[in-house]
Order: sequence, then structure tokens, then C-alpha cells
Amino acid sequence: MTNTDAHDPQRTTGGDDHRPARRVVVIGGSLAGLLAAQALAGHAGTVTVVERDRYPDGPGHRSGVPQDRHTHVLLESGQQAMETLLPGILDEMREHGARRVGTPGDICQWQNGRWFRRTPATTHFLSASRGLTDWVVRRRVLAGSRIETVQGAEVTGLVGDARRVRGVRLRERGAAAGRQEERVLEADLVVDASGRSSRAPAWLAAIGAEAPHEERLETGLAYSTRFYRAAAGVADGAALGVYIVPNPDQPLGGLLLPLEDDRWIVTLSGLRGSEPPTDEAGFLDFTARLPHPLLHDWLRKAEPVSAAHGFRGTANVRRRYDRPGRRPAGFLATGEALCAFNPIYGQGMSVAALSAVALQDALADPRRTPTTHRVQQALSAAARQAWDISAGADKNMPGATGNVLRPRAVDRPADWYMKRLQERACGNPEVGAVFRDVLSLIAPASALFAPAVARAVLFGPEPEAPVEPPLQQETPAA
Ligand SMILES: Cc1cc2nc3c(=O)[nH]c(=O)nc-3n(C[C@H](O)[C@H](O)[C@H](O)COP(=O)(O)OP(=O)(O)OC[C@H]3O[C@@H](n4cnc5c(N)ncnc54)[C@H](O)[C@@H]3O)c2cc1C
Repeated sequence: MTNTDAHDPQRTTGGDDHRPARRVVVIGGSLAGLLAAQALAGHAGTVTVVERDRYPDGPGHRSGVPQDRHTHVLLESGQQAMETLLPGILDEMREHGARRVGTPGDICQWQNGRWFRRTPATTHFLSASRGLTDWVVRRRVLAGSRIETVQGAEVTGLVGDARRVRGVRLRERGAAAGRQEERVLEADLVVDASGRSSRAPAWLAAIGAEAPHEERLETGLAYSTRFYRAAAGVADGAALGVYIVPNPDQPLGGLLLPLEDDRWIVTLSGLRGSEPPTDEAGFLDFTARLPHPLLHDWLRKAEPVSAAHGFRGTANVRRRYDRPGRRPAGFLATGEALCAFNPIYGQGMSVAALSAVALQDALADPRRTPTTHRVQQALSAAARQAWDISAGADKNMPGATGNVLRPRAVDRPADWYMKRLQERACGNPEVGAVFRDVLSLIAPASALFAPAVARAVLFGPEPEAPVEPPLQQETPAA
């Protein structure tokens, strides 16, 4: 379990550092917190998840996860990681109605002025409401006897000093909160999984430690999402989804996907100044401004089954806990508390799962003492590729702001290469497959530069791609 040793660059304390943690507290019981708890359960005496909400009984909305009203796809890497942590979880999700959607075969996807050819799928993502995903995961994780929850309680600070964290302070929420004293929950290890608005940097400063440097890149992207039932016959149509991918020249996005219970979810996106509306007429009108009327036509015939909800606050934020600093032993950050992404790339849940696997692996590694610093490095590494994709693409978006915008010498040729690659991904199934594998976080970014891909990108002509949405899948070549 996480401790410090003589070689730990963060080692600032002695005493009980070599003993495994007996008590772990995880701050935040959303996906990153629950999956981290699952990874920790085999390595600690008790794991307590402190969650400020009270969990709903079923797959309902939760105010602590306001983004749960919006599209949440689980990438292939996230599926694999969840299955590693909770064997059988994917079957469970599908039994409850989660849909397996193949790309490019099942989707009409517009990108850079072209439609992707609908050749047979090479990767699949899971499409389910966020409430369903959370509920299935939560039931499985909390079924074990080693993980307990304190619900309806908010962590308000850390206990300890710059050398070692020894627990958290928490306060009950709700009607009686005014009369409630703060209490302390002692722990040998505290894991911050409280999401993108984590207050851990301030809590660390309050105990005399150093807050992490924060990298930030923001496009002002806003979402508006509404649930629907498809018009009769449409649900049986040839495509399982429509995706209009925004880019620097065309910053409006639209996504239609099937969900459990015969529902469909439509998420619209726009950058600062062209945020999608949440009123009935405005929502529909926005789809008429997309580069093709496919989604607009679908919506006009469909039956809305919810109001539209908006979401802002989608900046990429990376807290550099991996960098040296005066930081205490016994404190880790994971999930969006560590690294939050522009949601348009659909990565956060997958990174939460990949991070939990990285945590499990780091704790089980017989060759190295899992010091705080080493385990934090592993968690930060698990988020790196997703960050490079998200921040890398967003820096070219109009009006992007932040402290990681400074162009580097390598950016120009890399941007040129990526533009050519994307132009070829729609019409060249091999290039498209590698592109999707990298975006799904199942292949490293270096796969984009493999000889066959590089040849097609550097020397190949831009292949033909449909100019109208391909309403039927292509049949596989014999
Ligand atoms: C609009 C939108 C769309 C998204 N779409 C996708 C997608 O398609 N695919 C995907 O993989 N990801 C997506 N994401 C990202 C995804 O929602 C997160 O990555 C995922 O929820 C994991 O985050 P988390 O567990 O770190 O934090 P969160 O889910 O934000 O949860 C933080 C938890 O901590 C609790 N908490 C906070 N402070 C305290 C405190 N002081 N004390 C106790 N509890 C506390 C909260 O109540 C909450 O339960 C999207 C995000 C947004 C905003």
C-alpha cells in the first residue's frame, strides 16, 4: 500500500511509512472514486468512500454529477479496464439495455466536410445513460464487504501536515447541517476523487503543503442535451447514430445515440458565443445550422421525453501532482480531480477506469515499493494520452484560452500531419481504424506514425469519401 521509502523523492517523514495502509478514505463516490476503491480494496483493511450526495436507489440523476444528463459513451479502453476491475460488468450493462455501437459501421459520422464510409466496425463503444452506468458499477463495487460509504457528508479539508496526511475533516450535509459539528475520519491514505472542481489544492495549502501547478485550456464549449423516442420505424433504420464532429472551421456539433429503454439521446455542442439553446424551438433551430440536415430531420419526427439541459464548464484541467513539490505522503489524486477533459472526446470515464487499473497494478508490483510519488506517477501516466488528444485538438479551436497554448517547434509539423491524417480517415478504412484505436485509447499515439499509416498520410491521395450521409452500411469485402 502507499507509503514512503528511503528512495521516495517526496519522503519527508519517517515512522510508520513502510506499513501498508490500514484505512483508506476516498473523497467522492462517482466513477473514479468507486473504481479506485475497488482497486484499493484488496490492499487495505478498510476503504471508506465519502460522498456528499445520497445515492439514488436506481439509475437516477444525482446533483453531485450534474453532467449525468448528457451523453456518456464508454470507449473500448474503458470497457476493457472496467472488465478487468469488475469481471462480467459489460454483460450486466448490456442486460440492463446499454447499446454496443460499432464505428464506423453503425454511425453516420461527418468530419471535415466529409462523411466516414460505413465500412464494418473496427471499434465499439457502449452507449448508456450515465445514471445506468453509475448504478451498475456502484452495485457491484458496494456489494463487497471491504468498501463502506459515508453518504450525505462533505469533506471540508485534510488532517495532517506537509509531511503526511492523516485523514479528512467532514461535515454532514442537509437540514441538520447547521447543528452538525465537523468530525475527523482518520486514514493512512486519502484519495481525492472529487471531480473537476476538487478543492484539494487549497486543502493541501492549508496544511502547509504545496498545491500542484494547474494546466488549463478552455474552448468555452457548451452542451445542450435532450432525450427522445424515435418516430415509428426510424429506430429500425440503417444507422445506430449520427455524429457531426466539430472542427476549427465548423465549431457546431451534434450527436444522436441510442440508449437503454428504447430512448435516444441528442447532444448539441457549440463554442463560446454559439452555445446551443435549451428551449424547445431554439434546440431544433440549432440543428438546422449543422452542416447537414440529417439530425434536424430526425428530430422533427421524434418525440421529446425530457426537457433540454445545458452544461458549461468543460475546460481541460490537469493538476501536476506528478511533478516534484512539497507534498505529503498518503495523498493521491485520481479521476477528474487529477485531469479533466473537454467531454467532446468522451474520455473521462475510460480514464477513470484505466487509472484504477494503474493503481491496482502499482500496488501489486512486487518489484517496487508503491510510494506515494510512484503511485501518483502511475495515475498521472494513465491520463496522459487522453490529455494529449484533448488539449492537442483544443488548442487549434477558435477562441481557445489557457496557459498551455504556447506553440512548440514540433506542433506545426504534427498539426500538418494530423490534418492530412484526418482527411484520409473518412475514406481510407485502414487509416480510419488506427485513428479510432488511438482516440479510443487502445493504441498509443505512436500507432499514427506506423509505416503503413505514414505512407498513406504523406504520399497517398485523399481518398474518396461520401459527400452525402451513407444511410446503409457497406458490406464487408469478400
Ligand atoms: C457534459 C459532460 C459530458 C461527458 N461525457 C463523457 C463521455 O461521453 N464519456 C466519458 O467517458 N466521460 C464523459 N464525461 C466525463 C465524466 O463525466 C467524468 O470523467 C466521470 O464522471 C468521472 O469523473 P470523476 O469520478 O472523477 O468525478 P465526478 O463524476 O465529477 O464525481 C465527483 C464526485 O465527488 C463528489 N464530491 C465532490 N466534492 C466532494 C466533497 N468535498 N466531499 C464528498 N464528495 C464530494 C461529487 O458529489 C461526485 O459524486 C463527461 C463530462 C461532462 C461534463
